[in-house]
Amino acid sequence: MTLEVHHTIAGIAAQTHEWRAQRLRIGFVPTMGNLHDGHIDLFRTLRPHCDRMVCSIFANPLQFGEGEDFGMYPRTLEADMERLTEIECDSLFAPSVDAMYGLLGMSHTKVSVKHMNNRYCGAFREGHFIGVATVVNKLFNIVLPHVAVFGEKDFQQLAVIRQMVSDLSMSVDIIGSPTYRDASGLALSSRNQYLTADEKVVAAELYKVLCDIRNKVNRASDSELESTVSNLIANGKARLEEMGFRPDYLDVANALTLAPFSVDSRELVVLVAARLGKARLIDNVHFVRER
Ligand code: AMP
Repeated sequence: MTLEVHHTIAGIAAQTHEWRAQRLRIGFVPTMGNLHDGHIDLFRTLRPHCDRMVCSIFANPLQFGEGEDFGMYPRTLEADMERLTEIECDSLFAPSVDAMYGLLGMSHTKVSVKHMNNRYCGAFREGHFIGVATVVNKLFNIVLPHVAVFGEKDFQQLAVIRQMVSDLSMSVDIIGSPTYRDASGLALSSRNQYLTADEKVVAAELYKVLCDIRNKVNRASDSELESTVSNLIANGKARLEEMGFRPDYLDVANALTLAPFSVDSRELVVLVAARLGKARLIDNVHFVRER
């Protein structure tokens, strides 16, 4: 099997139209490229749900803020194509910024899942989730997938996409795929390349702090929950700072809405974003309360 590579909207659209006409079920994994084992795991999740697999590689300028790493984001198309061929992905859509957004390099129309925009990562990355929702909407319109997979690693992004698909009655099934970690517990990310070897050792502690909070929240009774969580958050932030992180946020939220948790929320998520050296790391642990 060869990987079909398309750099134009017309090229990939013609391909997926043909598959649709043949009543084949199309599965889609949108990415920004620099594929690692975490991305590859998404295809493992997707495979049983479709007949043809499409990957997109597009570092979307709309979702990067001023002073963020758009210019230096790792671009490794040749190596990515080899990995996609190995795992028998059928088609790759890898457009240029011009091919996606025309000469203006932007979109006049934006998709905004408003209540998510200024929460958590949205509070620190202005316009980020509008850029994400806009490009994913556009990619869905181009590829017309029946099913698409996103990583739980980017928990807020997954929540934004689910909300957009539901609000706009889009006919695509969204599947969340568990966060893929290395043996140390560090969630794989293209941005881990910005870490030195020493920082990588520290970075692995992030997941341990999240697991610790989850375990203690699980042991708390309803009446202790609120005070337990606020102590755990304060202690967790202090621990991270001692280790050298500069936390943007650390919190426990309702996993379905990302609203502040209450004793009635059974499904919770511990969310963190923290800077370490040149990298900004995000991670989360999602769980159902036991008591
Ligand atoms: P990115 O290329 O960083 O935009 O990521 C593309 C997709 O891969 C998104 O749905 C991410 O959530 C997902 N992803 C990235 N890293 C991981 C990981 N370590 N585990 C699971 N999914 C991931």
